[in-house]
Amino acid sequence: MTSPDKASQETITGVRVWVPGKLFSFTCTRPTGFRFTAGQFARLGVNNTLVIAGEPDVIWRAYSMVSGPYDEHLEFFSIVVPDGAFTSHLSRLKVGDPIWVDKTNFGFLTTARFESGKHLWLLGSGTGLAPFLSILLDPDTWNKFETIVLVHSARTVEELVYQDQIQQFTGHPLMSELVPNLAERFRYIPVVTREKAPNCLNERITTLLANGELSEVTGLTLDKADSRFMICGNPEMVTDLRNTLKIMGFSPARRNTPGEVAVENYW
Ligand code: FAD
Repeated sequence: MTSPDKASQETITGVRVWVPGKLFSFTCTRPTGFRFTAGQFARLGVNNTLVIAGEPDVIWRAYSMVSGPYDEHLEFFSIVVPDGAFTSHLSRLKVGDPIWVDKTNFGFLTTARFESGKHLWLLGSGTGLAPFLSILLDPDTWNKFETIVLVHSARTVEELVYQDQIQQFTGHPLMSELVPNLAERFRYIPVVTREKAPNCLNERITTLLANGELSEVTGLTLDKADSRFMICGNPEMVTDLRNTLKIMGFSPARRNTPGEVAVENYW
C-alpha cells in the first residue's frame, strides 16, 4: 500500500467518456519530478468517499500511462467495473477533483526488454491499449524500431477508442517532426471480435497470428531476428497469445535472457 508521503495529490483536468458506464479516459496534473518510461504504470489513489466497507480511506490501483513521457499532463484510460471499489469512485470524478498519484513509477513493459529487433508488434485488448499509446508517443521507440504495428482488439466497434488520435498519429505535430517517414513506419490494425465491422479484422489476435493474416495485412514476416512482441490486457488473452507465440518459436524476454515477447496482465 502506498503511504501518503510517497504520493502526491493531483487534480483532474479532463474527462472523456468513450462508452457511457463502460469506458472513459481522464487527464490530471503531473506530479513535479514524476518521470516514467513509456509502457510503465502509475499507482493511483481515490478517496473512499462512497465509504465502501472493507476498503481503506484511499483505494489504490495500478494504471498504465497513456500519455507520452514528455507530455505535460498524465492521461489514463479506464474500464468501469460494475461495483468495482476503485472504478466506482474513479468514474465519478470530475474536472477539478483530486486524485492521488504515487511518485514512483512501476513496471517492465518497456522496450528496454529487447536488445534488438526491427519490427515492434503491440498487441492489446480492451484497456490494454493504454501503454501502447504511450510507447508510440516516445521518440526513443522509433529510434529503436523500423516499423511499429499497433493491433487493438475490442469486442465492439464503439470500444475501439482513441480513433482520432490513432488515425491522425502520423500527422502528430511533434512525432511527425521527430520521426522520419512516420507514415510508412506505422501500421494500425483494429480488431473487433463480437460483431462484423468494416475495415477491421474479425478474429481473435491468436488466430490472426497463427493463420498468417496479420503478417499478410502488414506485409511483415514474423521471425526471431526481426519481430518483437508486447502484449497487454486480460490474463486469458495474454496467456493464449504467449502460448501461440511460443508454438511459433518466440520466447519470453526475461532479465538476463534475451527474448522476443514481453507481457503485462491487468488482473
Ligand atoms: P477490481 O476489484 O480491481 O477488479 C474486479 C474485476 O474487474 C477483476 O477481477 C477483473 O475481472 C475485472 N477488471 C479489472 N480491471 C479490468 C480492466 N482493465 N478491463 C476489464 N476488466 C477488468 N485498468 C484500466 O482500466 N486501465 C489501465 O490502464 C490499467 N492498467 C493496469 C496496469 C497494471 C500493471 C495492472 C496490474 C492493472 C491495471 N489495470 C488497469 C486494472 C486496474 O488496476 C483495476 O483492476 C481496475 O481499475 C478495476 O478496479 P476496481 O477496484 O474497480 O475492480
